[in-house]
Amino acid sequence: MTKRFWKKLIILVIPVLSNLHSSAQMKPRPDAFPPVEEQVGSKSTLMATTVEEMAAWDRYPTYDTYQEMMRQWAETYPDLCSVDTIGTSIQGRLILALHIEGNPGEGLSRPQFFYSSTIHGDEVTGYVMMLRLIDTLLSSHGTDQRLTDLVNSTDIYINPLANPDGTYWRSDNTVQGSRRYNANGIDLNRTFPNPFAPTAKSVPQENQAMIDYAAAHSFRLSANLHGGAEVLNYPWDSFRSDVLAHPDNEWWKEICRELIDTLHTYSHSHFCDVSNSGYIAGGDWYVIDGGRQDYMNYYHNCLEMTIELSTVKNPDSDQLPEYWSFLSPMLIRYIEMIHHLPASHTSIDYLSPLASHFSVYPNPATDHITASGTCGGQQLTLSSIEGRILRKLTAHDSVTTIDLNDLQRGVYLLRIGNNNLKIIKQ
Ligand SMILES: [Zn+2]
Repeated sequence: MTKRFWKKLIILVIPVLSNLHSSAQMKPRPDAFPPVEEQVGSKSTLMATTVEEMAAWDRYPTYDTYQEMMRQWAETYPDLCSVDTIGTSIQGRLILALHIEGNPGEGLSRPQFFYSSTIHGDEVTGYVMMLRLIDTLLSSHGTDQRLTDLVNSTDIYINPLANPDGTYWRSDNTVQGSRRYNANGIDLNRTFPNPFAPTAKSVPQENQAMIDYAAAHSFRLSANLHGGAEVLNYPWDSFRSDVLAHPDNEWWKEICRELIDTLHTYSHSHFCDVSNSGYIAGGDWYVIDGGRQDYMNYYHNCLEMTIELSTVKNPDSDQLPEYWSFLSPMLIRYIEMIHHLPASHTSIDYLSPLASHFSVYPNPATDHITASGTCGGQQLTLSSIEGRILRKLTAHDSVTTIDLNDLQRGVYLLRIGNNNLKIIKQ
């Protein structure tokens, strides 16, 4: 039994214990206990080997058909859309996004919306929903006033498939035998930088491409689409909401209520399996580390939530039109919400509500501060708001003094373990 083992055990057990009460009646988060290897589907999974075979949207596309669909949209609607390559997967498949923009070149400043699906390669419902959404937005332009207005007023980016190696794990010609992980066996939704507990964990190639793409844009609202449950999962995933609530907690609840109302107009039997309301703060369901949602919120000022679209991760292909019938009104409504966003945040807004297990005095301070509490042996850092580290030391006992004399007046962040406090130098 190494120290590492015990540390791992504690990391595993503490969130389970702390969630025991709240999750007693709740369906376990499928993301929390992934199967070691996915079973090969024995169900009806029809594949479209040509774009024409996707006409009724009751098949999954082969990898080549998917690429051909993206190419054809850009060719058919050159004034409305273009294909972006976000990056490539380990096995060299393309991670693509379709950028839809009505009236391009008019110099309008439109807010940027991002949808991304199937970061878990076997959760394929969202993959087809996103392809059909692209087709609907493009083919309705000029005929459907509501969708035309939406496309003309919003920069929409849709990445239907974030983990192509996982989805086409067995072959480019089928999504049967798809798997959750990338080609290196890595869970891509556990390996984004965690703003609340930075580590030196290496970032997989697919995620680095996504990080670079997010950095090159200014997405303000987005969703990461999954399967295995049906629920709107809003931030944070890293904490239970009683430990740290998102500063826009009330806004999230309000828009989730509206989205679920929209969905329930079309189907009453869906989005009830995790919570009665159809939505939940991620950490109240299950705390995870390294998910994309928290990363996007914290580092890119992008309000991202996780939408679990279907209880079955890979529905029979002939069920896909039924999913579309009740999911699409909600998916479209969510894009429209980019025009009703709360004000932007800085990292200080995210951290300030964090319940702390140590205290600092005096604060505001002039020449020094003293940190006390359960910080002995822990790494203690003082940084600027922008994240530049100014002091780094190990707290040897329960009281540690930090000299502030050479610092300018302003606001700083003190981090001990996973706890953060705002420090004001007078
Ligand atoms: Zn998932």
